Amino acid sequence: MPDVWTHLICGHEVLKLAREDFREMARRERKLFNFGCQGPDFLFYYNFLPWAGDKRAVALGNRIHHESCGLFFRECLKHARHNPGEKSLVYIMGLMCHWCLDRAAHPYINYISGTCRGDGPGEEKLVNNHKRVEASIDSLLAKRFLGIDVQKVPVHREIYLGGSLPPEVQALYSRVLPLVFGDGCLAGADILNKSYSDMIAALKVLHDPRGAKRLVASLYDLISPRVDNMRYYFYGATVGDPEAYLNEDHRPWCHPMDQAEVHYESFSDLFLRAVGDTVEMIDLSMRFVLGEAGEAEIRDKITDISHSTGKIHSDEREMVYFLPVLP
Ligand SMILES: [Zn+2]
Repeated sequence: MPDVWTHLICGHEVLKLAREDFREMARRERKLFNFGCQGPDFLFYYNFLPWAGDKRAVALGNRIHHESCGLFFRECLKHARHNPGEKSLVYIMGLMCHWCLDRAAHPYINYISGTCRGDGPGEEKLVNNHKRVEASIDSLLAKRFLGIDVQKVPVHREIYLGGSLPPEVQALYSRVLPLVFGDGCLAGADILNKSYSDMIAALKVLHDPRGAKRLVASLYDLISPRVDNMRYYFYGATVGDPEAYLNEDHRPWCHPMDQAEVHYESFSDLFLRAVGDTVEMIDLSMRFVLGEAGEAEIRDKITDISHSTGKIHSDEREMVYFLPVLP
């Protein structure tokens, strides 16, 4: 599934540089750390089949990505300080990897994938193009860092934690989410566990080593009256032009919210920035949990930067500047 590998690789790179005490902890709880690196994305898999029931967890996943990210992480750390234990700490630091990579890379990924805003001519190509772009980046990075072909290796094994989420993770969310998003945000069925098991189920369904399922999805796309671009959910056998995704020639691109904010970073530059930011944040978080840093310091350094825009959440400008890489 697109983007899972890139987040896993970011976590691997962070662990190489993170402080020793945390690294040891994360090694003991490796799959939990890997699952943490997927951030709140697991909520997007709740009832993942298009025709299956309500999408409450998806809305919550979006809120965690955009709103009050700083407050969310500060409350997570306070919970970890008052409830000592490796599991919640390892999971929170995984979430931080996800946050730092999303906020560094999303402006670029959004710029090169675009969003479908209506049904203007040619816009059908943009439906799920974000997924397709992230799948391409996954393939390229997994080859480069791990020497693997993502189409052949089942990714769900990397994050499988058994039949349900560890009680420590459930306790963390049950405490923090109502504090940040209000009492009703977890109402109803067991949203967290179902999202986790739906994610594992979806990743198994999307594992397609011979490309047969992608072929069926392509046929569906061809005959379906709706534009779903279902094939983009599967890894393809090859990625067209790697440079179109990685920008190693440092061609200019702009922040999708601001045409005047021009960047030249490659994807690797953004990825390395995310790794560095996470290593620093893990150090601060460890110091906070151990009582060596105070609330003022985390309030200062862990702020409400949105996963999607890389900007402070109160900046409500729309993302409108894109130059999509198309199939
Ligand atoms: Zn995410």
